[in-house]
Amino acid sequence: MPRPDLLKRLAIQTAERAEAKLLRRLRTLDNADGPWLDVGNGRLLSFCSNDYLGLAQHPQLVAALTRAARQGGVGSTSAHLICGHRTEHAELEEALAVWTGRERALLFSTGYMANLGVLQAVLARGDICVQDKLNHACLLDGAKLSGAELKRYPHADVAAAARQLATRPDAAALLATDGVFSMDGDVAPLRELAALCARDRASLLVDDAHGLGVLGEHGAGSVNAADLSQHEVPLLMATLGKALGCMGAFVAGPAALIDGLIQFARPYIYTTAMPPALAAAALESVQLAQTEDWRREKLAALIARFRHGAAELGLPLAASFSAIQPLLLGSADAALAAAQALERLGLLVSAIRPPTVPSGQARLRITLSATHEEAHVDRLLDALETLHLSVPQRAAPGDHV
Ligand SMILES: *Cc1c(COP(=O)(O)O)cnc(C)c1O
Repeated sequence: MPRPDLLKRLAIQTAERAEAKLLRRLRTLDNADGPWLDVGNGRLLSFCSNDYLGLAQHPQLVAALTRAARQGGVGSTSAHLICGHRTEHAELEEALAVWTGRERALLFSTGYMANLGVLQAVLARGDICVQDKLNHACLLDGAKLSGAELKRYPHADVAAAARQLATRPDAAALLATDGVFSMDGDVAPLRELAALCARDRASLLVDDAHGLGVLGEHGAGSVNAADLSQHEVPLLMATLGKALGCMGAFVAGPAALIDGLIQFARPYIYTTAMPPALAAAALESVQLAQTEDWRREKLAALIARFRHGAAELGLPLAASFSAIQPLLLGSADAALAAAQALERLGLLVSAIRPPTVPSGQARLRITLSATHEEAHVDRLLDALETLHLSVPQRAAPGDHV
């Protein structure tokens, strides 16, 4: 047998994906203006961004970014541990720790890297990592990178998580869950999971990428909303690229965790620090997110309006009360056709298909933002009504990826 050619194999895999009509496509947008996106010679009203509080284009963020860039340039010029860590980073870390009620916080360049870093640093071969099946891809990848035994329990099934932990009573254990699930919008049973972890001496990690800024008192997140202390959730991760409208992420928790991450989290150590100007913008964003409760109130009103209207139309709503409002359509074809029909009506909604979600559970992932107005939600509902979406057949058991 001749040695296989890697790029040919990759091209075959891509062709197979196209054949299955599951090809992912890159779209270049000319500009964004609140929820409006300029594409080619048209404008689309977007329901796919994660800018839940409408902060990504806030003039105060832009001012903070340009002020800091004018003063200190664009690049941080090195990793945090060399000469990349500046006052802007330190101030942002302090503000994030205070906001989330944690002792300390540590910045990472992206959420993906934060999860890789924290899992790789705390877990080792011989440990067990128990995770919700619908956790974000980077939590799964982090567990694989760590070498720990990975077990995935059915979505939100605390009893199943308990059984998985019980298979290895002597092993060091981490239980990791999304706070708000990124494709479903529901909130994890955090109090029950915390009680399980306390009972079984496992550490709990919550990824609050979609909860920070949106849930909890003054937007402190899903862990705050569940009234869980640092003792109960010692590992808290969240991102700056969603409700905060910037980019980057952090892990917050006890000083011993942060000190350990600085020593052992490779995706922290061996990468360039985020631009200080971005940290300055994120600090501005944290302050706005904390103090401007009206953004959360407006978002909540839009969510309620959408859910009420969608229920009246008999649309296949999910049990989500967050800014993520999926419409479960079942087949990948149905989801894609619906997204294309909406686009013809001037609306951008993403079709989420396998392998991002289990097969048979393709959906439209609608996200709402404080930049939307009631009229925008009504326009979306009117468009959805014309599609005559039907409730899908239940996915066959065992269909989960
Ligand atoms: C988006 C997301 C991440 C990754 O964060 P990035 O900063 O975009 O890399 C991690 N976890 C969850 C649950 C997410 O939704």
